[in-house]
Amino acid sequence: MALGAHRVENTLRGPTDPEPASPLPRALLLRCLDGLRHGLLILDEAGRVALCTEPARALLAALAPDLAEPLSPRRLIAALRGAGALARADILRAARRLREEGAVSLDLCHRDRTVQVSLSRVPGTGMVATLEDISARRAAEASAAETARLDPLTRLPNRLLLRERLGAALDRLARRGEGCALLLVDLDRFKPVNDTLGHPVGDALLEKVADRLRATVRAEDTVARIGGDEFVVLQSAVRDAADTTALAQRLVDLIGRAYMIEGHLVSIGASLGIALAPQDGTDPDRLLKSADLALYRAKRDGRATFRFFEPTMDAQMQARRQLELDMRQALARREFEIHYQPQLNLLEERLTGCEALLRWRHPVRGMVSPAEFIPLAEEIGLIVPIGDWVIRQACHDAVRWPRPITVAVNVSPAQFKGDRLVDTVVSALARSGLPAPRLEIEITEGLLLQDDAQTLRTLHRLRDLGVRVSMDDFGTGYSSLSYLRAFPFDKIKIDRSFVRDMAQKPDGDAVIRAIAGLGRSLGMTTVAEGVETPEQMRRIRAEGCTDVQGYLVSRPIPADDLLALLARS
Ligand code: C2E
Ligand code: MG
Ligand code: MG
Repeated sequence: MALGAHRVENTLRGPTDPEPASPLPRALLLRCLDGLRHGLLILDEAGRVALCTEPARALLAALAPDLAEPLSPRRLIAALRGAGALARADILRAARRLREEGAVSLDLCHRDRTVQVSLSRVPGTGMVATLEDISARRAAEASAAETARLDPLTRLPNRLLLRERLGAALDRLARRGEGCALLLVDLDRFKPVNDTLGHPVGDALLEKVADRLRATVRAEDTVARIGGDEFVVLQSAVRDAADTTALAQRLVDLIGRAYMIEGHLVSIGASLGIALAPQDGTDPDRLLKSADLALYRAKRDGRATFRFFEPTMDAQMQARRQLELDMRQALARREFEIHYQPQLNLLEERLTGCEALLRWRHPVRGMVSPAEFIPLAEEIGLIVPIGDWVIRQACHDAVRWPRPITVAVNVSPAQFKGDRLVDTVVSALARSGLPAPRLEIEITEGLLLQDDAQTLRTLHRLRDLGVRVSMDDFGTGYSSLSYLRAFPFDKIKIDRSFVRDMAQKPDGDAVIRAIAGLGRSLGMTTVAEGVETPEQMRRIRAEGCTDVQGYLVSRPIPADDLLALLARS
């Protein structure tokens, strides 16, 4: 080994040492340096190798297996370049930094080995290089970076990696004109599975969905998980929308097939929103937003289906947002009012009650129909405070009527969550002084569809208070007789579509007759809704319904008009 012992002595002597110590034996010094983990390489002023420790040799040999003896900077550089561990640009950069700053550090890689080399000039003496094996650290960093891009549960790319892949796909679009599609997948009915069967089953279900998604796409496509039950498929090299339609249909079918998890047969569905590049946008945010709008439409259209983005969706969403903003202020601005529609008892020929129907007097749009804003209010949870107001206002109005008839209030399923509904009813009755039997709650079959114990408990608590409960729109949902047996309803309201069908369909009367008969044997009042003509009235009477409600008797009217009507009749 080329070692000038006197040089090492000089190097090791500290600047403050007053007298040169007696020289260290060379063999001892070498043993010490060879024992270090880092490698050390020293060049003299002429660029000759003055010292190269054993660890340095081992690291250099790992980087450049063809390195020949005797060691020289020229040979070393040639061997490193030959092994691909060093590029010409690295050499130029290192030389410049050494010239300008006197020191440089560079990572040299060969196969899975990475060595960090720190070079520094020692003026008047030469150059010192320390070599450190940082392969393990780099590998750990790389795996951490990969982990940060993967969803830990499904090992699918996460939002971060999806964005990178989407960026790359849009790059290919710009360079080669290669189109791509973004399919946003949202699971239908995942939350109930998670809530009722527990999170471990929910997690297992998500893993199975991930497996199915992975198995459905091609190797060049990306499947990512970007939220609880939200996945994205990035389909690359799309020639036309038919490619994407076929994939979307496969995904809907496949995810919709039943799953067997820990002995439970689980069934969910998938709704998909699709955006195409370049048609629907060429930047990642725009595409994700377009796919999201399309997804919203797919869900509105009944779920378990897919929708492509259309430009009008954007405008509709904006209108919806505006409606939502307006509605959030409508209560405080007193824009809601209640109209009342009387119900007539056919036997006694007298009014027995009124249904409270919510109206929204919008400052710009005028009267907005409940069919338009109630679904939105339900979706964003605003139905709860609005519904509370309706109950309080209806009780307040009814107590002023000249006759002790009932007031019927429509209640949405969302109002049944928690104990609030009973509290509201109790306080509305107490504050208004309306006797409980004069208040009637109208629910639809949809409420009982969920079949949860809490709903039935709430209904029974209302009944125990003395409040009446009726089944609205009977016949439009599942019309299951089990719902009529699940709870002792006071009243069945026959949906107005049956009244309309009566004259048009040959067996139109039969349905009304059957429901009226059912009501009679179960001891429930039967009200036919939407009666508009005397002929309908005659038939309904003949079929045995007890009450009617409809334009023929009266349209829904403002509270003051109702007072006048009740005073007259
Ligand atoms: P619903 O409870 O079935 O109310 C009956 C609907 O039929 C009312 O529509 C009423 O105006 C209409 N109607 C009554 N008679 C006739 C008729 O002879 N012919 C025709 N064509 N229609 C008739 P409206 O007021 O537009 O309410 C629609 C729905 O909005 C209601 O259906 C109810 O489900 C919901 N709704 C209304 N107010 C409230 C409320 O305060 N809370 C909740 N959650 N829902 C409400
Ligand atoms: Mg109703
Ligand atoms: Mg109804």
